[in-house]
Amino acid sequence: MTYDIAIIGLGPAGIQAGIHAGRRKNKVIVFGKKEESALNYAHLENYFGFKEKIEGKELLEAGIEQLKRAGVDILEEDIIKIEPLERGFKLITEKEKEFIALALVLAMGVKRKKSFFKREKDFVGKGVSYCVDCDAWFYKGKKTLIIGDGSSAIWGAKFLTQFAEEVYFYFSKGEIPSEEKEALIQKGVKILASKPIEILGEREVEGIKLEDESIIKVDGIFIEQGARGPLELLAPLGIELDLETFSYVKVDKKMKTNVEGIFACGDITGPPLQVAKAVGEGCIAGLSASDYVSKIKKEI
Ligand SMILES: Cc1cc2nc3c(=O)[nH]c(=O)nc-3n(C[C@H](O)[C@H](O)[C@H](O)COP(=O)(O)OP(=O)(O)OC[C@H]3O[C@@H](n4cnc5c(N)ncnc54)[C@H](O)[C@@H]3O)c2cc1C
Repeated sequence: MTYDIAIIGLGPAGIQAGIHAGRRKNKVIVFGKKEESALNYAHLENYFGFKEKIEGKELLEAGIEQLKRAGVDILEEDIIKIEPLERGFKLITEKEKEFIALALVLAMGVKRKKSFFKREKDFVGKGVSYCVDCDAWFYKGKKTLIIGDGSSAIWGAKFLTQFAEEVYFYFSKGEIPSEEKEALIQKGVKILASKPIEILGEREVEGIKLEDESIIKVDGIFIEQGARGPLELLAPLGIELDLETFSYVKVDKKMKTNVEGIFACGDITGPPLQVAKAVGEGCIAGLSASDYVSKIKKEI
């Protein structure tokens, strides 16, 4: 499916970008999950225009309705891969659906990294990794465990089977959706019912202890919480990050990144992490992406 503009993120930044881009008569799609937006958990007292405290959840629902009225499509799935094309970008969702767009708006918010084990930090780079894309290669023919609570972990487990001899998987939040569970089993992934509680090893990861007291030998542990964050998703595109923390996407005043056709807005571009900033930047990103698409269409 082909779109003028694809927006990744169904939070205030992505929604506002979508409203402005949609009202400019572009064909627009927004990917993301409203429950994953930081706004879903906020109670706002510092946002313009409300006499009383407003629940973030209500603001999100209202924004999504506006988005629909602007003629924008919404797909509540995570993007797990972005590939640059000669003109535009190919996006692949967690359910392996493919989309093509001329311009991209990144509005994925920030990933609040949660550690899983007490001694996890001691093993970073010594068997513990947060990036399957980056490190799967090092585990060719080895035994690995992947832990996570969302689409990036499920995708990561499938991806790891192309390299590792053995892939164990622990889903840390509720049940794995049945369709996904079937796909994992078919790929030979061993799903753990008991929670991993301790990393074993002196200097490097040697194994893992589970809550039921059993021990599994593994060489590598991947921790992939939530959806794919900016660092994992954007690394192959050569998007420039801020030089101080390498955590935020660098943009100019038009919300352009260093890659032609890619714009960014909201928490992903750095502090202040506030709704007012997210919607302001979303507006600019939506309009800038629209201008870019008009220019490209004239050239075609
Ligand atoms: C507890 C709490 C209280 C807060 N209180 C306030 C407050 O009082 N005032 C204030 O102004 N701000 C507050 N904030 C901050 C505010 O919520 C954020 O600044 C704002 O939500 C940022 O908007 P955003 O659109 O950039 O990102 P988010 O709202 O975080 O939205 C990110 C979106 O990206 C999607 N996404 C991420 N990765 C992918 C992927 N790979 N594929 C597809 N979609 C993806 C998610 O599903 C989500 O829809 C609070 C935040 C929290 C957590």
